[in-house]
Amino acid sequence: MFSIAEKLQQVQAQIAAAALAAARLPQEVRLLAVSKTFGPDAVLEAAHAGQRAFGENYLQEALDKMQALQQRDAAVAAGLEWHFIGPIQSNKTRPIAAHFDWVHSVEREKIAQRLSEQRPQELPPLNICLQVNISGEASKSGLAPHEVATAAQAVAQLPRLRLRGLMAIPEPTADPQLQRAAFGRVRALFDELKQQGLALDTLSMGMSADMPAAIAEGASIVRIGSAIFGARDYSSAH
Ligand SMILES: *Cc1c(COP(=O)(O)O)cnc(C)c1O
Repeated sequence: MFSIAEKLQQVQAQIAAAALAAARLPQEVRLLAVSKTFGPDAVLEAAHAGQRAFGENYLQEALDKMQALQQRDAAVAAGLEWHFIGPIQSNKTRPIAAHFDWVHSVEREKIAQRLSEQRPQELPPLNICLQVNISGEASKSGLAPHEVATAAQAVAQLPRLRLRGLMAIPEPTADPQLQRAAFGRVRALFDELKQQGLALDTLSMGMSADMPAAIAEGASIVRIGSAIFGARDYSSAH
């Protein structure tokens, strides 16, 4: 069994190898540690190993974890950066706007408007990625690719948000060619938005099972859970 610190090191080494293979610099790819279903102890262990950015999908679980970390080690907790990456219900936007630094899973303008209105004045603008349903799966969240440009132009105008880029979760496949094709479509959409004048810098794509393909296609944030924390057990958490 490897410790969380060892697994973080392994993932960082895999990020560096994938970046170098794609003629990119390892520091162009940020690691978001997805800590959903894992408790404050796991987050603290990762934080002590130098990990700063954490991703969460479930609001109440995340808020409980933040509070526990605050009580456990206020100095470490103050240095963490929280990214919301799960589906967003419109009645949950206020606590998301108040407690997170980033939201990767915005798929409707109305949600973005609420996040902007509800972002507390004393905090910097909330960093936003629009989620794209790149594989066209009926069951999956996200904007259809043809809806992205209009939504991006609207979200970029909202005063308390900073639109950073796109997020996608392609249909799972073990075939690296198919993985790259899907990530390549996200990258093409991203490039179009930049050509339209939007100042974007973030492609949030790649998980434990498809990280190298995402990095090859330009990922700037990879969202990695199980390769750091182990297999998730949903039976007790949700
Ligand atoms: C759970 C989750 C991840 C992490 O997935 P792993 O396969 O455990 O790396 C990344 N992104 C999103 C949106 C998730 O829900």
